[in-house]
Amino acid sequence: MRTRMALIVAIALSVAVLAAQAPQFGDAVKSFIKLNAPVIALTHVRVIDGTGAPARDDQTIVIRKGLIDRLGPSASTPPPDDATTIDLTGKSVIPGLVMVHEHLYYPTGPGFYGNLGESFVRLYLAGGVTTMRTGGNTSGVMDVKLKEMIDAGQQPGPAIDATAPYLNGPNTFLQMRALKDAADARRQVEYWADMGATSFKAYMNITRAELGAAIEAAHARGLKVTGHLCSVTYAEAAQLGIDNLEHGFMASTDFVADKQPDVCPGQPVGQRAVAALDENGAAFTALVKTLMDHHVALTSTLTVFETFTPGRPMPPGLDVLVPELRQQFEQNYARTQQNQQSIYKTLFPKGMALERAFARAGGTLLAGTDPTGGGGVIPGFSNQRQLELLVEEGFTPLEAIQIGSSNAARYLGRDARIGTIAAGKQADLVVVNGDPSVTIGDVRKVETVLKQGIGFDPQKLIESVRGKVGLW
Ligand SMILES: [Zn+2]
Repeated sequence: MRTRMALIVAIALSVAVLAAQAPQFGDAVKSFIKLNAPVIALTHVRVIDGTGAPARDDQTIVIRKGLIDRLGPSASTPPPDDATTIDLTGKSVIPGLVMVHEHLYYPTGPGFYGNLGESFVRLYLAGGVTTMRTGGNTSGVMDVKLKEMIDAGQQPGPAIDATAPYLNGPNTFLQMRALKDAADARRQVEYWADMGATSFKAYMNITRAELGAAIEAAHARGLKVTGHLCSVTYAEAAQLGIDNLEHGFMASTDFVADKQPDVCPGQPVGQRAVAALDENGAAFTALVKTLMDHHVALTSTLTVFETFTPGRPMPPGLDVLVPELRQQFEQNYARTQQNQQSIYKTLFPKGMALERAFARAGGTLLAGTDPTGGGGVIPGFSNQRQLELLVEEGFTPLEAIQIGSSNAARYLGRDARIGTIAAGKQADLVVVNGDPSVTIGDVRKVETVLKQGIGFDPQKLIESVRGKVGLW
């Protein structure tokens, strides 16, 4: 009798646990799901596991309740009897991408950002991104709200690490307030942490005192701070305990000759100093050491800089934009091509060389896309482009995939669950047609994106917003 009661209780408990794990998907999400079964076996697939290890051919992955239950050679890993089996001969799986300089807004007008969260989360997921950190927001609550709705199954999209509104000093952006002092910075961090924000972004005109106070307040709550800096140098930010710096070395003002404390010398001045750097020189090597000593990760956002650089190809995915935004970018692109004096002709390749040197010295490099600038950085499409650009920068395809998945998972402290493909991990997987361990461009050929074992249809996600991105 007692045993029977215990059994009933145990069954009731396990049903409750199951119900808690699998969100009840709303209609807005259901229409994008192409694969949803309690047990799934992906057979005869090439596995690129995100650790940097070589690809393994002809593997079987068994997914149970959203987790990778088993993984091994197809010959010795038979699919369970109750599995929905999918033959993936000729195809590859990579880990769901974990990218950390994403936004839910886009430049829609001069100095103005349209908040486009609803379409962007679909595009990110379609592009293979299953976890993303937003790198600053211009909406207030939207990043946090979308994170909660996605977690609850009411919206399709990646798991979101949601940043608060920017921490910045005096500035001309309509959607950014100006901090008054260190106490104000602390209050802003505490307020937004209470509102559910899970990370913070410091911006160009913050002072050292404000940044220090913000870092202290965030760390007290176990939250991290990243920065796109200018008034504060990378070395100063490292000393203050910042966790991450954005845009590789492109935003460093450490090498500006007469840099005044707490003053941004202006972007062109900083960029000229960076463009003139020697990646093997003592000054740069010393900064790399400082960053590594303080465990500061660096985020590569080559995609946004590519749009500023003459002679580069048109970026992918523009046809999802409303015609007016597409035209606006195409005009910007034409102007960029004509500007043969552009600093980016030397800065873009130099930025690549500096990032590569940092990573080769043992620094932690993360990846993101930054859909800002003059437009043209399209969520999802640009995450795939970022991987291609990391290969152009000098990484192997396997390293590029690692930078785009497990490095960021480790940075976010979630590597026990996400970022690599292994038994026990969340089944966040991107099925691609081809072999991106050889040809990185094959990451563009996404067939299915599995998030916690639920397979989403990238084409349906993209079609649902095609020609409308800019409206919502
Ligand atoms: Zn950004």
